[in-house]
Amino acid sequence: MHRMIIDTDTAADDSFALLIGLLHPKAQLEAVTIVNGNVGFDQEIQNALITIEAAGRGGEVPVHPGARVPLVRDWVPASAHGDGKGNHDFPVPAQRPSAEGAAEAIVRIVNANPGEIEILAIGPLTNIATALFLDRELSKKVKHLWIMGGCDNSVGNVTAAAEYNFYVDPDAADIVLQAGFATTIVTWTLTLAQAWWDEQQIARIAEIPTSLAEFFLVLDAPTTAHNASVGVAGSSHPDSLTAMLIVEPELIRRSSDAFVAVETTSELTRGYSLMDHRADRSIPNARIIDEVDADGFFTSYCRLLAAGARERG
Ligand code: CA
Repeated sequence: MHRMIIDTDTAADDSFALLIGLLHPKAQLEAVTIVNGNVGFDQEIQNALITIEAAGRGGEVPVHPGARVPLVRDWVPASAHGDGKGNHDFPVPAQRPSAEGAAEAIVRIVNANPGEIEILAIGPLTNIATALFLDRELSKKVKHLWIMGGCDNSVGNVTAAAEYNFYVDPDAADIVLQAGFATTIVTWTLTLAQAWWDEQQIARIAEIPTSLAEFFLVLDAPTTAHNASVGVAGSSHPDSLTAMLIVEPELIRRSSDAFVAVETTSELTRGYSLMDHRADRSIPNARIIDEVDADGFFTSYCRLLAAGARERG
């Protein structure tokens, strides 16, 4: 069983990652923490609560609001996700966000369970950096930190140099990467190669007769439409891939250790992730996922959607 906290800028694929935490038989989701990112902060909180409701787990997993802005820079929204919930009117969830902040919740839960908790960070790393300010020893007590962010020396999705999560809060990203966590990174580079579902795959999800599959299609639609408008078919699933690798690590086919640092001073290459794989030249601080079983990931996700929402007890 993987006990985890998911730190998320909840929109579209973030919700799909949350569903893994909420419903996968090998996941035990202790808390959701919300960070600035994809869409407006209050919308992200709502999107997380709506996702918990869609999983049939309303009121069972707390949602802690965190940093509304990056450490030192202005917030930068993403353009591809609409309101992050398919621009659809869902009923207002009964669950309300927790009064406890994200960083405080992370520090409390990890200290109560040293060596037990895995953190899945699928937004800018502001909350994790803030938690480090509260507890300098946090990295030694977290079982593993799984990050979706950065590029492995390839073109980014915000600028040529940078992937979105690291671009939005490069200062937090670099603080977290140098803090000594046992870390695994899923990059935008890997996403482009292996976490992209095409129209045929989306059509297969449409054949799954559960409300959860319907929920997926509603949330995925704006991303697919945005991608189509720029000439790309389908949608990317980096956050849900990272979540799935926690509970099904056998999907990892190849990984490599690297020293990773994030550019914080240049405007031209803001958020660029330097990944140095030269074993003789650098001391690694992260494991980079180089190759996964992409078909296995899709099959596992379809299995999750087919199993459907949790029945109310
Ligand atoms: Ca995200």
